[in-house]
Parts: sequence; C-alpha cells; structure tokens
Amino acid sequence: MRERQAQSASAKGPTRRQWLYCCAAGLFAGTARFAFAKAEAKLAKGAVSYQDHPYGHKHCANCAHYLAAKDPAEPGHCQIVAGRIKAQGYCIVWAEKNPSNSC
Ligand code: SF4
Repeated sequence: MRERQAQSASAKGPTRRQWLYCCAAGLFAGTARFAFAKAEAKLAKGAVSYQDHPYGHKHCANCAHYLAAKDPAEPGHCQIVAGRIKAQGYCIVWAEKNPSNSC
C-alpha cells in the first residue's frame, strides 16, 4: 500500500519540498554567480598602468569612466578599474569624457 502511494506520488511530479529545495538551490546559484561576476568585472590598477598623476591633459576627472565622489576632496571610483581612484590619476583605458570636442 505504501509502495503504491509512493509510486503515485512520484508519478504526480516533484513534491512541495523538492520544489522548495530546487528554488533555493537555483536562487543561491544565481546569487553566487552574480556576486562572482561583479567581483571580476573591474580590472586591477596594475593591469591598466594606473598612476596617481595626470598624463598631459588626460586625467580621471575628464575621463568618461570616472565616477566622482560626493565630496570632491575624496577619491572617486571608476567603471572599469577597481579601488579608489584619484581625480588627478590616469590609466591607459582613459577615454575623453566629451568626444564631440575632439573634431
Ligand atoms: S578608466 Fe582609467 S583614466 Fe578613466 S577614470 Fe578609470 S582609472 Fe581613471
């Protein structure tokens, strides 16, 4: 009798408990993958030859990738390079903030 009930339960599909385990595992895997990708998304300063001073007129404050801090005296962030970024810094990924001025 029990065997027959178990067979009919498995024939109906996964139980609620199995669904919950599956959902929890999927949610955990998705979150872990997102966190890992986010951590990998930015390059190390050394990989882009970051320096704390400008290269001619090129510096982070006039770079398209620079994200200024709320307090201008504090270092900001970069969309590409990891860590705190000085407004007067520079790296080889520098891109002009307003390319329309270059023509
Ligand atoms: S890409 Fe380089 S130059 Fe531009 S803000 Fe980031 S660190 Fe500075």
